[in-house]
Amino acid sequence: MPIHHFSVGDIKLIVVADAVKDLLEDGIKNILTTISEEQLVVFRNETYPHVFSYNTVYLQHGNEHILIDAGTGEAGKPVEGHLMDGLAQAGIHAAHIDKIIITHFHRDHYGGLVTPDNAAVFPKATILVPRAEWAYWVESGQAPAERVELIKAAFAPYQGRITFYDDGDVLVEGITARAMPGHSAGHCGLWLESQGEKVLHLADILHTTVQLAFPELSPRFDYDPLAAGQLRRRLLEEVADEQLLTLIFHLPFPGLGYIQRADNGFTWQPIA
Ligand SMILES: [Zn+2]
Repeated sequence: MPIHHFSVGDIKLIVVADAVKDLLEDGIKNILTTISEEQLVVFRNETYPHVFSYNTVYLQHGNEHILIDAGTGEAGKPVEGHLMDGLAQAGIHAAHIDKIIITHFHRDHYGGLVTPDNAAVFPKATILVPRAEWAYWVESGQAPAERVELIKAAFAPYQGRITFYDDGDVLVEGITARAMPGHSAGHCGLWLESQGEKVLHLADILHTTVQLAFPELSPRFDYDPLAAGQLRRRLLEEVADEQLLTLIFHLPFPGLGYIQRADNGFTWQPIA
């Protein structure tokens, strides 16, 4: 699986592909169940690679080694779960990691915290989780029970090493949380900023490039598809108008690029 080095000011980052899967027409219909024939035609004619990536991020800032999301973990192999193999190529191992920032509680983002028998993968890392996400999945009693059990099992070995964050919190120097609810109840993105350089990590604000042309098109796994679609359009407008570099977890690896306005939607200019 590929890895991609880049930097934001003083922050050195590596995007590591936890997975890169083909995303063909059947796949897009499965993710975007309400996709129309007109939208499918746009998808067929796209020049973007038709892949579904899991773009996990490692970064080093000062002496701290940090992950943004943990990928799927060994249980997802052979298709998913390649984060730690990718990091090993760069000489980084689980014991080095000090902090793991989880954007939301879907398995492709937290599953890698634990082995298939639910032992901690990271011996010393503190896990930073959105408070609103914890409240919904672990405390509300409203989330699907089966998924709640998986989440509890993955976080259990980190008891005493979990901290909660809210919108606007500075998680470490240069990384600030930004609440982006809709995809899940407490889904968060992140500002990465150093030496005047800035990236907005949009996490799972969108999953496929065809949603750039049709921002209101939400995947079946959005918690609140209407709110997610509205926020998707607002954020895409913001990053386009401010010419902000973005990182998007599921866009074709490494998911780094600029958004531009086009017709009633947007286009993607990948930078790598
Ligand atoms: Zn995801």
